[in-house]
Amino acid sequence: MSISENLNRIRNSLPEHVTLVAVSKTKPVSDIMEAYNAGQRIFGENKVQEMTEKWEILPKDINWHMIGHVQRNKVKYMASYVSLIHGVDSLRLLKEINKQAKKANRNIDCLLQVHIAEEESKFGLDASELSEIITSIKSGTLSNIRVLGLMGMATFTDDDHQIRKEFQNLKSLFDKTKNVVSECSILSMGMSGDYQIAIEEGSNMVRIGSRIFGRR
Ligand SMILES: *Cc1c(COP(=O)(O)O)cnc(C)c1O
Repeated sequence: MSISENLNRIRNSLPEHVTLVAVSKTKPVSDIMEAYNAGQRIFGENKVQEMTEKWEILPKDINWHMIGHVQRNKVKYMASYVSLIHGVDSLRLLKEINKQAKKANRNIDCLLQVHIAEEESKFGLDASELSEIITSIKSGTLSNIRVLGLMGMATFTDDDHQIRKEFQNLKSLFDKTKNVVSECSILSMGMSGDYQIAIEEGSNMVRIGSRIFGRR
């Protein structure tokens, strides 16, 4: 199957309220252009430098989503163009994004990454850190960022029951966050292997790579 066939098959299977982020990390610009020519405009990358190199040469109506872990010293390279940063997991990072957004004279949209998987990972907030960061945002002065929602990744496992439980956990944190953060509307969960479960559990943004572009 070609990239455009994969893309169309997935798009046709997604409910209308679900946004597709085509995850193009490690893939060449020719693959991105094939998806672009099939109508895709939102692409996800997990490295700032790679994303910036692609942004420079590809059509400017592409929306670039940073889905990976972000180091604070890399924010400046994408501040002028990034359309959504999914992986915000500290107040320090959020403050740096705000600072760089101000310099670039724009607002930057962000999602807070929550750690829901059973696997050990350095990345993502737990429930209490999430509520702390939301309290700071609400009382704070971060005028150039908007927190539009939450992002999370389920455990890499064949156990659908466990994946479902983790997504339910994130959905419930999302609902709580929505109650206190008015612009919170995006729930980014679901990848190639688990996006159907994620949508059943309330996702409205899926990040799909290998099912579109093939193995990495
Ligand atoms: C790579 C990646 C994806 C896409 O993974 P696939 O299994 O190829 O669909 C989604 N989200 C994040 C955060 C990723 O790093």
